[in-house]
Amino acid sequence: TLLTHWAPLAVDGRKSGVVAVFHDISDMKKVENIRRDFVANVSHELRTPVSVIKGYAETLLDGALQSDGDRATRFVEIILSHSERLAALINDILTLSTLESRALVLDRHPLDISGTMRKTYMLLEENANKKDIRMQLDIPAGLPRVLADQGRVEQVIVNLLDNAIKYTPPQGMVTLSVRQGDDPGFLKIAVADTGIGIPFKDLPRIFERFYRVDEARSRDQGGTGLGLAIAKHIVQLHGGEISVTNNEFGKGSIFSFTLPVAAA
Ligand code: ADP
Repeated sequence: TLLTHWAPLAVDGRKSGVVAVFHDISDMKKVENIRRDFVANVSHELRTPVSVIKGYAETLLDGALQSDGDRATRFVEIILSHSERLAALINDILTLSTLESRALVLDRHPLDISGTMRKTYMLLEENANKKDIRMQLDIPAGLPRVLADQGRVEQVIVNLLDNAIKYTPPQGMVTLSVRQGDDPGFLKIAVADTGIGIPFKDLPRIFERFYRVDEARSRDQGGTGLGLAIAKHIVQLHGGEISVTNNEFGKGSIFSFTLPVAAA
């Protein structure tokens, strides 16, 4: 608790007490701790690719560049892939900090969600084909429009579809669907996969930034650990909710989020 103001209290000219104003600083502390953890995490995440890039560049200059062409090519490929990882990380960190600073203003309009779903589906179809994963689109007719920022909603669906494909082995299935929400004022969009699933104990923490079930696997897949944190922020800015459950049918996971229906 923090004392911010105090003043003597006088009754009939005689001092009779003190008025003191206290503030609960536990919230302020919490925010400060979260910020400190974030900076520590970011430094850790950035340091890894930077030190790999530096190491391989030094080895190349130390002679590998002249002596062994094949090896040199391999090293340059490693440098390139870690540079790409670094770029993705910086991009996600900037997006997340804009979202968290509330500097982001949504550009919301009545939106036909089926068009946005078809667009993202087509964007990711090639990735799924390459892995021999089947994709399904399930859009019933006659759904109302939602009030949403199209670009941001695309970002959420792309993140969820990209994860579903990343964490599903070949021959699996990824389904993108939309339904009227339990609350009729909302539509519910869902991405279901038949992939590796998420252990029960990890489910409550999965939307935290940099939280991963398996760090090595996420890295191998080019993940930054920020996709779900970004998705959660965007959905909440719209007044919706995002959640995850285990996909009982065929294992895997189901991520769903809601968006408010636009006024008629
Ligand atoms: P990443 O870049 O690591 O994929 P995300 O924030 O998108 O970061 O996801 C966080 C973690 O949640 C992932 O590392 C992974 O462990 C888990 N995860 C996300 N989506 C799925 C999914 N569809 N199936 C299984 N695990 C998932």
